[in-house]
Amino acid sequence: MLSTKKKPRRTHAAPLRPTQGSGVVPDHPPNAVELRNVSVTYGTTTALAGLDLVVACGETVALLGPSGSGKSTALKAIAGFEQPSGGRILLDGEDVTGTSPAQRGIGVVVQSYALFPHMRIDANVAYGLKARKLPKAQIAARVKLMLEMVGMEDHAHKLPRQLSGGQQQRVAIARALAIKPRVLLLDEPLSALDASLRAEMLIELQALRVELPEIAMVYVTHDQSEALTLADRIAVMRNARLEEIGTAAQLYDRPASAFTAKFLGGASLLPAVSTTVVSGAGTLASVMVGAHRMRAVAPFALFPGDRAKVAVRPHAWQVLPGSPEISASTVNSLPGRVESVQWRGAGHRLQVDLIGIAERVTVDVPALSPVPTPGDLVVLSADPAHVVLVPAGDTP
Ligand code: ADP
Repeated sequence: MLSTKKKPRRTHAAPLRPTQGSGVVPDHPPNAVELRNVSVTYGTTTALAGLDLVVACGETVALLGPSGSGKSTALKAIAGFEQPSGGRILLDGEDVTGTSPAQRGIGVVVQSYALFPHMRIDANVAYGLKARKLPKAQIAARVKLMLEMVGMEDHAHKLPRQLSGGQQQRVAIARALAIKPRVLLLDEPLSALDASLRAEMLIELQALRVELPEIAMVYVTHDQSEALTLADRIAVMRNARLEEIGTAAQLYDRPASAFTAKFLGGASLLPAVSTTVVSGAGTLASVMVGAHRMRAVAPFALFPGDRAKVAVRPHAWQVLPGSPEISASTVNSLPGRVESVQWRGAGHRLQVDLIGIAERVTVDVPALSPVPTPGDLVVLSADPAHVVLVPAGDTP
């Protein structure tokens, strides 16, 4: 097991500015990783289209997005496994575009562990150190330390096939960290593990993060809970582009696009028309959703008649017994008919077809709350503080 020594959690640091070539001593150390307008193409496929991304020293940035959105390609470009067709890549302020993976000294952990099958665990961990031709005694000490850090010191003499998936992934992490990388890249490191082991390893990765405050990490995942748990900032990827980047709280509470609202937290999106002038920056707007009035946080300015989408996450709805007539006049209350009910252990998930608006919304009912049955008429109500507007033009 990794050490779970308690240290204060770092605050979500703002990214440091890139240093300019002015000759003046910079206020900040350079960014650990910087991608400037990086594009990667495979034949006719654009896998990455002009990505700008900055990762500060000691920061963890998660690349989160659906399959095929370019996350792994971004990681491969940082590691040097893929060369960009355009743009520059900087590590610690130094332009490394065109250099080999070995020259970059980055630690990489992939989904499939990728241990050398014929080599013992200690030899796997020593591999990068031997390649750097370090003295034997130094290699042995470092291997021991790394295996202890991931709780695998008792397995040093085994072969990878004698270990479970979780154990192999711990060894892969030890191997990646053995070379003292300035940057650790993790590509879906938990997705080959079963659910309970994944949860356990997530806690261990959290502890590891605290153990290694200097290392910058880039963590590719399609799993929002991993991103929310580990990342200082989350970069949401979509169709080879960066959709949005921010702290978990910023993206979760105030998503700037319908795509982010839906992908991170599964918000339902309802078409809305503004009825008031609002200046944005978190003021409450009044909008019409069909014939129903709703109040919602508006992160951007709106004028009467402007279109937007109302985003409401499944847990933000309250379910009341109801009828279509009761709710039409009440702010933030929408009538609907329950289409399906799923028991999910910690509560129930409903799909509710709204009446008068051709939309289906997802609603999470906590445990111990009354649960309607399919066909029931209900009124869905939401606190305006938990309803946020996103731009209408964006189709998730
Ligand atoms: P993600 O990691 O978000 O699932 P990828 O970066 O793996 O996405 O892929 C982005 C796009 O590039 C996809 O359309 C994928 O099919 C394509 N792609 C990735 N690797 C290759 C490759 N080696 N050859 C051809 N196309 C590729």
